[in-house]
Amino acid sequence: MTFLDYAPAPESTAVLSLRASYGLFINGEFVDGRGDGFTSISPATEKPIAQFSTANDADVDTAVIAARRAYDRTWSKLSGSDRGKYLFRIARLVQERARELAVAETLDNGKPIKETRDVDIPLVAAWFFYYAGWADKLDYAGLGPAPRSLGVAAQVIPWNFPLLMLAWKIAPALAAGNTVVIKPAETTPLTAMIFAEILQQADLPPGVVNIITGAGATGSALVNHGDVNKVAFTGSTGVGRAIAKSTAGTGKKLTLELGGKGANIVFDDAPMDQAIEGIVTGIFFNQGQVCCAGSRLLVQENIHDEVIERLKKRMSTLRVGDPLDKNTDVGAINSRAQLDRITALAGVGVEEGAERWSPECEFPTAGFWFAPTIFTGVATSHRIARDEIFGPVLSVLTFRTPAEAIAKANNTPYGLSAGVWSDKGSRILAVADKLRAGVVWANTFNKFDPASPFGGYKESGYGREGGRHGLAAYLETSGWAAPGRQADRPKTSSKAISKGSQE
Ligand code: NAD
Repeated sequence: MTFLDYAPAPESTAVLSLRASYGLFINGEFVDGRGDGFTSISPATEKPIAQFSTANDADVDTAVIAARRAYDRTWSKLSGSDRGKYLFRIARLVQERARELAVAETLDNGKPIKETRDVDIPLVAAWFFYYAGWADKLDYAGLGPAPRSLGVAAQVIPWNFPLLMLAWKIAPALAAGNTVVIKPAETTPLTAMIFAEILQQADLPPGVVNIITGAGATGSALVNHGDVNKVAFTGSTGVGRAIAKSTAGTGKKLTLELGGKGANIVFDDAPMDQAIEGIVTGIFFNQGQVCCAGSRLLVQENIHDEVIERLKKRMSTLRVGDPLDKNTDVGAINSRAQLDRITALAGVGVEEGAERWSPECEFPTAGFWFAPTIFTGVATSHRIARDEIFGPVLSVLTFRTPAEAIAKANNTPYGLSAGVWSDKGSRILAVADKLRAGVVWANTFNKFDPASPFGGYKESGYGREGGRHGLAAYLETSGWAAPGRQADRPKTSSKAISKGSQE
């Protein structure tokens, strides 16, 4: 098959005015961190972008003190509508600086510019707009009478959607009246620091949001600080488990958004063209570094060969390369460590006897790259069917009946997402109802909306982000079960909040 060649269409980086080095953002100002500095590099070129500070224990303490003071003196005293005004202002500034944020995110993370431009950054603005609207309506959120803010929230986020995860954390926390100390991942601190500039532009009172950088030790010091009331973590299940242990019995309210191994189930009556696009979006969006990726394709046996043939054809048209190029579909893997992890797990897939296929790809000479890959002939016992690979690798399994599809989809320690492709609405509803996954997409995949709750079952974590459920994680409530608060959950609560409640 031959394709038309595309001329390079790189997005200009002239819109950026980056500093050579960024400190920590504490009490409304950039200050030097007292830990060792580190350099963030572009995963597509391995070239340095800027220097960042590591917050040591003393810096973490300073940040939490600033957040506590801001909570006591200003933020908790503001009316909901005044808090909302700040959030609206932040949302508008994100929109004004959207191009700059998209370019910075692509540079630092390696994901294609068409994703940061059309998905990440618009959703960041949408999240702030959405929660701005809730700030003065907390009494009407159905969370019980007179919900109250918690205090200081400690938030730790991963590198796969750096600014979007920041928005998911900060927007509901502020809307609910809390102050925040947040730590972005060590490989993607750039947009968080540009966001700090936005907070200055928005005149947010000092200390309401504090942004500290560093690696796991900084995150650990933050979540274990004695004066935080709430911990919100998004990242790996291993670290989530450690945080659950260390915060148990401390009275800190905890939400965990962890890993996943989502099943994308394609029935033989599915709209085939859309399903192929959905499979591609499900696993190759953001190079598959998506907690809710559709990384297990469950395809009905009688259409297996047709689906695989069409999928391979479609995969052959994916453009892998410079993420700043507007034509690029699949960008760089975020770090060498992540590339090594993906490479190792794909190797295990071959050793275990699955059949590996990738289209031919020409990679740039520097940077971290992995070709879109599918494995066929996968059994549920294979590690590539069980472990989260967090890369552009799809494991294909088959099923014959809906019951078998459901059993296989649920045969995982995780429970974050799933997709169902079928022409029949009744079948979709019946299957979705039995899937142990926080989010089930029907005839689509990887769609996000601030009004829709998102979160996991089992080892994918607990608590919900998004929607009014996302507010509950940041409020002291009575009368309705706040997701993420098992200990004092009222007995009257039920799992009736559809997929929005926790296990
Ligand atoms: P990670 O757990 O290693 O790191 C996540 C964050 O935690 C980083 O900021 C890191 O510095 C920090 N951290 C590391 N050790 C810590 C500790 N002991 N205490 C406190 N903080 C610590 O995960 P990762 O490799 O950066 O991210 C990938 C993982 O995140 C995947 O498993 C993915 O599924 C998950 N993820 C989940 C969601 C979700 O919403 N469920 C979203 C994105 C990513």
